[in-house]
Amino acid sequence: QKIIIAIDGYSGTGKSSTAKAVARNLGYTYIDSGAMYRAATLYFLQQGVDLEKPQEVAKALAALDISFEGQDLILNEKVVRDELRTMAVNDQVSQVSAVKSVREALVEQQQAIGQDRGIVMDGRDIGTVVFPDAELKVFMTANSRVRALRRQRELEQKGIREELNVIEENLKQRDQIDSTREESPLTKALGAVEIDTSDLSFDEQVGKIVELAKK
Ligand code: C5P
Repeated sequence: QKIIIAIDGYSGTGKSSTAKAVARNLGYTYIDSGAMYRAATLYFLQQGVDLEKPQEVAKALAALDISFEGQDLILNEKVVRDELRTMAVNDQVSQVSAVKSVREALVEQQQAIGQDRGIVMDGRDIGTVVFPDAELKVFMTANSRVRALRRQRELEQKGIREELNVIEENLKQRDQIDSTREESPLTKALGAVEIDTSDLSFDEQVGKIVELAKK
């Protein structure tokens, strides 16, 4: 019987790559909720939306169309990939994600996707808000240096060079905003299994979750 697996945690703990591998292993669909917030942020940046103006936000949300085709995220009929990972988006995404109406719109869409079951979704509020009844909830942590190093390696693979301190600061800043915001702050969901990945290999991390899913 197919279940819903909710994976939450801090930026750069390897949630996305882990969730993707778990989904592949189980034959499930992987949904990257962070990419949805990033796509909204990219669109808001393109449109020059002022977050302080509810009418501008509402107008942009009404015109925002996000969907998935396999692993690809489609933003208003265009596949977006690397555009979602730029420092410009990194710098703004936590502010955009803190806006209540933005969260309402994206959570509604995420819940609709989850009706299919057999879903692995990763983010910040998946176990607490989006799928509080998920059969398996995981909360991933890792120390910030390890996380910054992983992010740096990821960026390097895309040919982007960025200083470790800059990355670590950005991660910490996002953690701070994500866990103290009024709307669905990042916290460990009730019943979530906490996995500290600082000293785990990628395969170990994936193996642990797959094992929990099969129980
Ligand atoms: O997971 P990722 O690092 O791509 O997420 C980018 C940002 O999107 C997070 O820092 C957070 O502000 C926001 N986010 C969120 N809720 C989610 C997923 C992401 O607020 N479920």
